[in-house]
Amino acid sequence: MSAPLPSALLERLRAIVGPRGCLEVEADQAPYLRDERDLYRGRAVAVVRPRTTAEVAAIVTACAEARVGIVPQGGNTGYVGGSVPGEDGTEVLVSLSRLNRIRDIDALNYTMTVEAGCVLAEVQRAAREAGRLFPLSLAAEGSCQIGGNLSTNAGGTAVLRYGNARDLVLGLEVVLPDGSVWDGLRRLRKDNTGYDLKQLLLGAEGTLGIITAAVLALHPLPSAVATALVAVPDPRAATRLLATLRSASGDQVTTFEYLQRRCLELVFAHIEGSADPLPRPYGHYVLAELSGGGEDGALAALLEEVLAEAFEAGLALDGVVAASREQRARLWGLRETVPEAQKRAGACLKHDISVPVSRVPELIERATGLVEAALPGARVVAFGHVGDGNVHFNLSQAHGSDPEPFLARGPDVARQIHDLAAELGGSFSAEHGVGRLKRPELERYRGGVEHDLLRAVKGAFDPLGIMNPGKVVDPPRR
Ligand SMILES: Cc1cc2nc3c(=O)[nH]c(=O)nc-3n(C[C@H](O)[C@H](O)[C@H](O)COP(=O)(O)OP(=O)(O)OC[C@H]3O[C@@H](n4cnc5c(N)ncnc54)[C@H](O)[C@@H]3O)c2cc1C
Repeated sequence: MSAPLPSALLERLRAIVGPRGCLEVEADQAPYLRDERDLYRGRAVAVVRPRTTAEVAAIVTACAEARVGIVPQGGNTGYVGGSVPGEDGTEVLVSLSRLNRIRDIDALNYTMTVEAGCVLAEVQRAAREAGRLFPLSLAAEGSCQIGGNLSTNAGGTAVLRYGNARDLVLGLEVVLPDGSVWDGLRRLRKDNTGYDLKQLLLGAEGTLGIITAAVLALHPLPSAVATALVAVPDPRAATRLLATLRSASGDQVTTFEYLQRRCLELVFAHIEGSADPLPRPYGHYVLAELSGGGEDGALAALLEEVLAEAFEAGLALDGVVAASREQRARLWGLRETVPEAQKRAGACLKHDISVPVSRVPELIERATGLVEAALPGARVVAFGHVGDGNVHFNLSQAHGSDPEPFLARGPDVARQIHDLAAELGGSFSAEHGVGRLKRPELERYRGGVEHDLLRAVKGAFDPLGIMNPGKVVDPPRR
């Protein structure tokens, strides 16, 4: 039997999802076809919006029979161009946003079963209403979806305490590239029964299958939270303060985020209602948060005690411990709005790198030197999850300068920064993945045996190479 032509395929897709679930007009498709950073603008045969796992399976079966590429998309907030199709208009984009039911919450088992299209903030809210915590948290949580979070193995601001997305999953339901459904929705914390397939699919960026549902691991809801913005002399003091805080609090540190002064200045300039909580400017800051049992007051007292010792030891220069929920939200706002403020400040280059925590100061110092030599006038905007050794070493164009020459230098500067991260035992992509943007980096830094293994895994799941083509790796040639 010959493969159906795209027009026949379109008929099949319409029949599967109904006319309202199949977007064929350019204007309707437009929001799905450009990525968050506006690096890529793709085209698609159709944007389909299934409501059930059975519909996803039928779509994938139809595409597999037609040998047509499939691009899964969640909230489309990814930073590496993984969720948009190529420019030739031959692929089908599958948006998971209507597959968004919370199927079950098992409070005694500390698990919840959710569909891929649930927005992360909704998942957090549902867990909270059941008296539980789903700790994955990132600035895009109002629009990113759990399927996207799991497919990118998202990190965020609580990794230090709870791990990355892959550490918060017990089971998965996945539509594989031939249209078959793997029901791995197990709620077990112990299950040593062969290769851990779900770990291959987590962080696969939609290249091995479409995640349709997941069993998430929940945690106790902390009754006490204490948050501080602390000015520190330099990144070295920040990493030492982190180590002290972890020991002194019995490892109750949930968040430890670094911010250069320039990050705050961008926020003050571009985010309405933001203000400096400290009386004078400092060069470097951390946002630190403890959480645990007991009462807020006791935890705040512990945090204040450790900070007082840090001032004595020269590890901290000034600081404010939030005295209310509102003040806590304002401190968090300073951190969470940095990406948006940087976007509004003009062209930017992003480097999502990680090294062992102990090497973060050297990374920031040497990367700053590289940029000063390679891109004079560019503004370094370094911030991020320093508690995990993950720095968003971003650059903004010089005030009022032409963005074109600045952006044109991007690949060369990125290469230098990624080489430095590699030299320090680090990664060129800490939490944003590979997608389309970082494929050359994957070959460069994970070449040889590792790259061969990655391609072999891709080939085992998707020998035809139809699942998110052109992202991460290709299957081996047949
Ligand atoms: C303001 C802002 C802050 C951010 N902060 C962080 C942060 O702190 N930490 C972090 O890790 N990331 C961060 N990100 C990046 C982004 O939000 C995350 O990568 C997020 O996990 C992507 O989810 P999404 O639903 O938007 O996925 P999308 O962007 O839609 O897709 C991302 C990738 O996953 C695939 N995919 C999506 N859904 C599925 C599915 N159901 N099955 C299979 N594949 C799928 C896509 O094909 C694509 O390759 C941030 C982004 C923004 C805009």
